[in-house]
Amino acid sequence: MEKIEEGKEEENQEKIFDYDSLQEEITYILDTLPRSEAFDDNSMRISIFHTMLKNCELVIKFTKEYPNTPLSCQVKTRSLPLRLVEIIKKGADKKLQELAEEGKYQVLRIYDYYNELLEHNNLIPAWKEVQKAKKLLDPEKDSMKLFQKAGKVKYIIQEEDLRLALLVGIPPDYPLVPLEVTILKNNKEGTGTNINPRLLEIFSSHIQDLVRRYHLGYDGLESDLNEGKIGAEATKKVEAPLMTYEEMQYDIDFLRKQKDMKEEIGDYKKRKKYRRMIRKEAEKELEKLELEEKRIQELQANNKQARPCLVELVQFVIDKLVRYFPNAICEICGEELLSKKKKKSLTPEIAYCLHWFHSGCIEEVCNNPPFDPDCPVEGCGNKLGNKDNKTDKASVKTREKIYSQSEARKADADEIDNLFDF
Ligand SMILES: [Zn+2]
Ligand SMILES: [Zn+2]
Repeated sequence: MEKIEEGKEEENQEKIFDYDSLQEEITYILDTLPRSEAFDDNSMRISIFHTMLKNCELVIKFTKEYPNTPLSCQVKTRSLPLRLVEIIKKGADKKLQELAEEGKYQVLRIYDYYNELLEHNNLIPAWKEVQKAKKLLDPEKDSMKLFQKAGKVKYIIQEEDLRLALLVGIPPDYPLVPLEVTILKNNKEGTGTNINPRLLEIFSSHIQDLVRRYHLGYDGLESDLNEGKIGAEATKKVEAPLMTYEEMQYDIDFLRKQKDMKEEIGDYKKRKKYRRMIRKEAEKELEKLELEEKRIQELQANNKQARPCLVELVQFVIDKLVRYFPNAICEICGEELLSKKKKKSLTPEIAYCLHWFHSGCIEEVCNNPPFDPDCPVEGCGNKLGNKDNKTDKASVKTREKIYSQSEARKADADEIDNLFDF
């Protein structure tokens, strides 16, 4: 019962935006926002915390003519990209100017502005990467759409008749939690993926594999794929943009101090109806932060090696999949890799060395002498093989044996034929 009433009280808690003096405004802010602190009569600090990657501190200074002049609001942050802060700040300064012209009190209004932007922008963990990846697209062929609230980016990458539509979800704890990549099916509008199912399966497994590898922190590909060319090229070490534990500890200490302080001076506050709420808010904030601290520590411990890979993913999809296929040639038979003929032996198949051939061509070469051929692509230097034609000694021996048995049978058959010819 108690709980329900508390919930109601919070819902009815309406924010007050206008006051009789600056002093009254500051008092109200200190009461309402648990993570706020006033230094003197003309400056204060408010901290906004959503996640480890979405937090900042507003350092506010007032002029003598306030609220008829805009307050100065500096944004301090270790987690947000500088360029993003610049963009947000531009909008905020414009808003402050407008408020000052109307002589309105500005602190809570500007706090709401920043708070909502952080809350509703779920692309922040990959913000820099999204910008960088955009430059890889060809505006004539490809497109990108951002879903800020959902924290998703849709990419459509096209080359000739080949179109791949990807929806990339950025988890709030990315890169500690890997990207969620979905390949979008084709639709009536013709904006989905239009790749034959077998090839799509291969694309999909490569994309998932890349995401998984970066999450596990591998430099190249797994050993069973030999030393992969694609993985090595696409990989660059990037530091995960994470707040350190010490930085978070500072926030926790601040909240603890504030909780104690607010309990002490509670009796002197004018706004008695807020007193209970403030204490509860501070407690709740502290609890929230302590839980977040524990959660992040666990995440960090279990995913130490995780690395961001949005740029690498987009680059891979463009260079090694969509742009590569329409004009690619199978270097075993010299024909187009994406054959118009619908023969099973002509489906593209990736070799261990990450070069593509027709599945039938790999089969043919591996099952004839010398049974452990080199990859025909210049400069590759790896043995040719795939999951059906492995490169280890035992597999090579087995292929050789099967070959000689079938040759022997053929010879027998020839002999019989010859017999009847005579
Ligand atoms: Zn071929
Ligand atoms: Zn090769």
